[in-house]
Amino acid sequence: MPSTICALATPPGVGGIAVVRLSGPQAYPIAERVFRPVRAGRQVRKAAGYTAMLGHYLLRGAEMDETVALFYRAPHSYTGEDVIEFSVHGGHAMVQGLLEALYLAGASPAGPGEFTRRALENGRISLTQAEAVMEIISADGRQGAALAKSALDGALARRIDGIRAALQTLAAHITAWIDYPEEDVPELSDAELAGTLTAQKQALDALIDGYGAGAVLRHGVDCVLLGRPNVGKSTLLNLLAGFDRAIVTPIAGTTRDVLEQPVMLGDTGIRLNLFDTAGVRDAGDDPVEAEGIRRSWKKLEEAGLVLAVFDLGEPLTAEDLDIARRCSGRPALAILNKQDLAGQGDAQRLAEQALAPYFRQVLAISARDPASLDPLCRAVSELLGTARLDPNAAALCSARQLDAAREARDALAEALQARAGGFGLDAIGVCLADAQRALARLTGEDAGEATLDEVFSTFCVGK
Ligand code: GDP
Repeated sequence: MPSTICALATPPGVGGIAVVRLSGPQAYPIAERVFRPVRAGRQVRKAAGYTAMLGHYLLRGAEMDETVALFYRAPHSYTGEDVIEFSVHGGHAMVQGLLEALYLAGASPAGPGEFTRRALENGRISLTQAEAVMEIISADGRQGAALAKSALDGALARRIDGIRAALQTLAAHITAWIDYPEEDVPELSDAELAGTLTAQKQALDALIDGYGAGAVLRHGVDCVLLGRPNVGKSTLLNLLAGFDRAIVTPIAGTTRDVLEQPVMLGDTGIRLNLFDTAGVRDAGDDPVEAEGIRRSWKKLEEAGLVLAVFDLGEPLTAEDLDIARRCSGRPALAILNKQDLAGQGDAQRLAEQALAPYFRQVLAISARDPASLDPLCRAVSELLGTARLDPNAAALCSARQLDAAREARDALAEALQARAGGFGLDAIGVCLADAQRALARLTGEDAGEATLDEVFSTFCVGK
């Protein structure tokens, strides 16, 4: 018999109320020992599901905080077990007292994600939905949360099931054709085979391609501001942050270290963890500046987004071109700043021509002008692919799922190659079986204990 577990479900600390959750086969007998209803004649053991009761909890016989108990009856609860949620005043002492009372009455402390794990084990949710629960909790933008919610609603599970069903039909056909040649199984047409394999591979490709953009919406992206001193990096940072975070001065080399600033980028739903780096220039003999510059280059290697700033008020320099070259092949946007100084001349056109080969996109703005924020937001969401993402569509939401999806996609690519290479149906059948195994792992059907341990270790206690 599973144990009966309890934990604080709300964040620890001082607050209006705190909720302690109790789940397991002994939830009602344990609650009866700990909770005394205010109204005479009311009994915990008789409480119907989805009802509430006012009372107090008792610790070693002493009446403690006023408590509201909310009752759920198996299987109609989050975990699928009997569950009781106690709301008490949100403070350390009252919560600890209640937990202690529950332990004394026979409950054990829940491990990280144990409630959700029980929901999975009791068939209430799938593994992809369990992962979505964690993503919803940790998402900090509305779009990211919407994305995780669609996974919780089962959009991903449905998409994967569709792919698996198509592959299953194909595999059954191939098996019948190979194993029962005398049964007159109609031969699979080559067009049908290629069509199904291609369509399902494309469905997986679309999920895999959307993963990066989805991760950006859920977790934000590390963004580096790069550029020579005085091109307007700090001004841009302030435009993005909406307040004066960095010191802006007309003296070159004011920003000497890497400043970090998380900002929500307009209404794109993207959280940028901005790093304003030391102006990149020849450090001469100044060791502090040299160290700052070294860190700037390192950040460039790691960043999920690079905003390289150039000054339209002056012609591009050799340093500018060095920065541009380093941005090549990176998720980098060239920002031609001080557009107001470029006048009617050719400066902007020339700079655009010179920089275009190194960047995914080139955008001219005036960082001093708040109206520049809009085009900048659009350019960033285009570059990161979030603009094309439908938050209600199926999406992969963990590295584990991405891994399994890639494996299935690669197996289908191999099947297509085997077909093109004129290999027999049995070779294609082997690849199909590989793809199906990977997909079963993705949805959690084939997930071993180790996988479950890994997934739930990232959960918080109480969820
Ligand atoms: P950083 O060294 O790259 O961080 O450059 P700053 O942000 O400190 O800016 C250097 C100077 O350029 C400051 O005097 C800014 O006011 C000025 N500046 C920044 N953006 C613009 C702009 O769009 N137009 C104009 N005219 N000046 C700007």
